[in-house]
Amino acid sequence: MIETKATCCYCGVGCGVVIQSDGQQVLGVRGDPDHPANFGRLCSKGSTLHLSAQPGIQKQVRALYPEMRSSRDQARVRSDWDSTLGSMAHRFAETIAKHGPDSVGFYISGQLLTEDYYVFNKLAKGLIGTNNIDSNSRLCMSSAVAGYKQTLGADAPPSCYEDLELAELIFIVGSNTAYAHPILYRRIEAARKNNPALKVIVADPRRTDTAREADLFLQILPGTDVALFNGMLHLCLWEDLIDLDYIAAHTEGFADLKQTVRAYTPAFVAQTCGIREEDLILAARLFGQSKASLSLYCQGLNQSASGTAKNAALINLHLATHQIGKPGAGPFSLTGQPNAMGGREVGGMANLLSGHRDLANPRHRAEVAALWGVADVPEKPGKTAVELFEAVRQGEIKLLWIVCTNPAQSMPEQNLIREALNKAELVIVQEAYRSTATVPYADILLPATTWAEKSGTVTNSERRISRVNAAIAPPGETRHDWAIATAFARKLEKFLDKPWTIFPYDTPEDVWLEHRESTRGRDLDITGLSYQLLDSQGPQQWPFPAGATHGQPRLYEDGIFPTANGRARFVNVDYQPVVDKIDARHPFALTTGRLRDQWHGMSRTGTVAQLFSHVAEPGIEMAAPDMARRFLKNGDLVHVTNKRGSQIFTVSESDEMRPGQTFIAMHWGEEYVSGRGHGSNFSVGVNALTSPALDPSSKQPELKHTAVKILKA
Ligand code: SF4
Repeated sequence: MIETKATCCYCGVGCGVVIQSDGQQVLGVRGDPDHPANFGRLCSKGSTLHLSAQPGIQKQVRALYPEMRSSRDQARVRSDWDSTLGSMAHRFAETIAKHGPDSVGFYISGQLLTEDYYVFNKLAKGLIGTNNIDSNSRLCMSSAVAGYKQTLGADAPPSCYEDLELAELIFIVGSNTAYAHPILYRRIEAARKNNPALKVIVADPRRTDTAREADLFLQILPGTDVALFNGMLHLCLWEDLIDLDYIAAHTEGFADLKQTVRAYTPAFVAQTCGIREEDLILAARLFGQSKASLSLYCQGLNQSASGTAKNAALINLHLATHQIGKPGAGPFSLTGQPNAMGGREVGGMANLLSGHRDLANPRHRAEVAALWGVADVPEKPGKTAVELFEAVRQGEIKLLWIVCTNPAQSMPEQNLIREALNKAELVIVQEAYRSTATVPYADILLPATTWAEKSGTVTNSERRISRVNAAIAPPGETRHDWAIATAFARKLEKFLDKPWTIFPYDTPEDVWLEHRESTRGRDLDITGLSYQLLDSQGPQQWPFPAGATHGQPRLYEDGIFPTANGRARFVNVDYQPVVDKIDARHPFALTTGRLRDQWHGMSRTGTVAQLFSHVAEPGIEMAAPDMARRFLKNGDLVHVTNKRGSQIFTVSESDEMRPGQTFIAMHWGEEYVSGRGHGSNFSVGVNALTSPALDPSSKQPELKHTAVKILKA
């Protein structure tokens, strides 16, 4: 048996795995005892990865060879790589010549490896000359990125997993860590066992499994996080729990924020958030008095039309109380996807450039153009995820290339997304799975390799870069994502009369070395790393500049921040309510979230039978009094409706919800309910109802909350 080191391909904890194989077939998987993210532990999803890679399952769900169709009323037929990529290059060259480079767009994924991300970003911005490339990370971490940049000056989570053991207080906000980041939650449980003085506060609209175990649970109303954080800061000011010396020496902008938070009295905040005043006061005291307060947060903060403000308000609280830059303290965003961090590092989004550079900065554009060997990088901002699909729907973007993601299930307001996919002149889907809801829209299907078949690097939530190694040969005619982009780019270069290629890559390492060079002198400098070092010494945290002997577990310990004057910035933020407000016609708040045993749209976890033993089918959860008032019983079918659409779900009673609140898991789409005998219109999933309202800074949509009415079907 061969053992190969890789990482789990699900969440941003980034657990190390050892793949057991015979070189052709995956036989088993175990946690990597040497990986510092998990020390050998795996959750239910990671420990069943091998079951998702069995040949029988692969045959049913994998895309194994290129397919094309000549027109929308034809079925796709098998093609070959050379003619498929040649035809694509011809269409791109023709469309760009006729309508300009912004007539094409790319929608990529936080599940790509860093090397894949890098090549697609260079293809769009460097070769084609469009910034119309965005990622499903826009739906995941873009508010965390904007929050960090506005306050601390760089997109760099300042803490590390070791801080879970060093904290005196862990404040979990908008994260069901026990389900979404299970191995980190196991670490919190172990830390509490070893240190009974460690306190945990959870703030969430639902009494999740994470909330049940908390010392203090604040069951806030959806979207009221900024009021909560400003209220805690108000109390810390009142009770002299802020660090005036730290504020004076290392920050700016506190005076304005101080004025703003005067209005966030305990009475106002308790009423706004729907919590008891004494609980708010206790939370502020525990946070401010603790020697080390660590906040963990995820989509509850990010997936919101005020997501950046929520992130900034929490970081304000950390700065004012000096709960940052020291062991066990800091605002620590938990990354949703396995490599959203790597994507951010290479600038694989519409407003970013390689090495944490900004598209809006002319010097940054010039640096990247020089690195890539192109005349310039276009200045015009690209379309972000929701805007990108709207531009396709409006006919502005004509060719759309979707890579390793499933927008026909995961994007909000599905009606418009599906309309956009139908209107595009050409939809290319590059995927490992032919079973996703997006594949039927593909005019061209490009079969890609996936976990256990590909090599490269990923970065997890704590800025730790791990090597990922292929254990088995690619099945069928599948190719690696970076290699598909490279082969296409070389063909397009010929159509565009480029004298030489700027894609001189034969291996993922060739790509990574160019990426490494792009980080030189930047906050994430990794010029001291190599594939060899990562293989021999294991995963490493950035920054790791040339000459360094180890990475940096914790940032800003010296109180110097990567801003123009070295000071962190307080952002003066006010509470804004959710966009879809409850009214007489839509009296229920609907929140969305993850389950313990499923991942995203279930293209992989949906192939593993035992992962359905936790929750077997899609449903809506309601509070018992709400069900009683509507004469609903467990298992009844209900119409869940708002202005965007109506879906049918099975209803069940839950003590996690307070009256007026409901919850639907985000994993199910039509693919996984069509076999239940309710007809093809039974459900396209909760995103038929969710809101495309955008945060003004991060452009992240408010996927977490909408208002609905619920009627018995
Ligand atoms: Fe995979 Fe996340 Fe589970 Fe670790 S915690 S095994 S990375 S899903």
